[in-house]
Amino acid sequence: MSYLTLSHLEKSFGTLRVVKDFNLEVAQGEFISLLGPSGCGKTTVLRMVAGFETPTSGGISIDGQDVTHLRPNQRNIGMVFQAYALFPNLTVAQNVGFGLKVKGAPKDEIRPRVREMLQLIGLADLGNRYPFQLSGGQQQRVALARALAPKPSVLLLDEPLSALDAKVRVSLRNEIRAIQRELGITTIFVTHDQEEALSMSDRVVVMHEGIADQVGTPFDIYNRPATRFVAGFVGTLN
Ligand code: ADP
Repeated sequence: MSYLTLSHLEKSFGTLRVVKDFNLEVAQGEFISLLGPSGCGKTTVLRMVAGFETPTSGGISIDGQDVTHLRPNQRNIGMVFQAYALFPNLTVAQNVGFGLKVKGAPKDEIRPRVREMLQLIGLADLGNRYPFQLSGGQQQRVALARALAPKPSVLLLDEPLSALDAKVRVSLRNEIRAIQRELGITTIFVTHDQEEALSMSDRVVVMHEGIADQVGTPFDIYNRPATRFVAGFVGTLN
């Protein structure tokens, strides 16, 4: 059963066709990666799911509801970006509680939820710090907690690890996946790093010039590449 469905999605900017007949069915709780080189359209797909871009044609549904023309704040989606997206003038706890506050949740609901989220990401003691006082890895964990605090139905991660150094990146891969599994939240993860995609995902979509070249398990993508492009992209980066 598909929880998040992308049907015949197309996106053009002027005459440039950036996403072409993109189809994907994501099961509830699944962790899917969009993998491909820079400029192949990964972020544009993610931004259409989030509602920041309107598809030129095609549709998006979440849990049976057609959300194609809903505004971002009507879609119940959490998003984490590459880096430096925390509010610098708010504490860690205020950052994590921000989405709930915007939604008008009462204080006595926000406080325990923030505490719960800080515990989930292992930063229970750092609620009163400011973002500049944290390491890059800690900041991205806070960004994850902020995205998850309002209990989104879908989590979108846009290269959340690419600004971090190699050691932190590898430990955060495991941490993100553990949290995702614990919450059972349906997740789309955008990356150009094949090792990241293959090690973290239930399934991987390999994109090439706006097209989904192959959708499969990491095992299939690695061992049975469907196109010359997939074979080259997954192979040469090893
Ligand atoms: P990726 O995430 O795979 O690096 P993007 O989805 O960011 O790729 O971009 C795909 C293509 O669409 C690129 O050629 C990019 O320059 C172009 N593009 C993205 N957003 C816009 C925009 N708002 N206006 C014009 N072109 C855009």
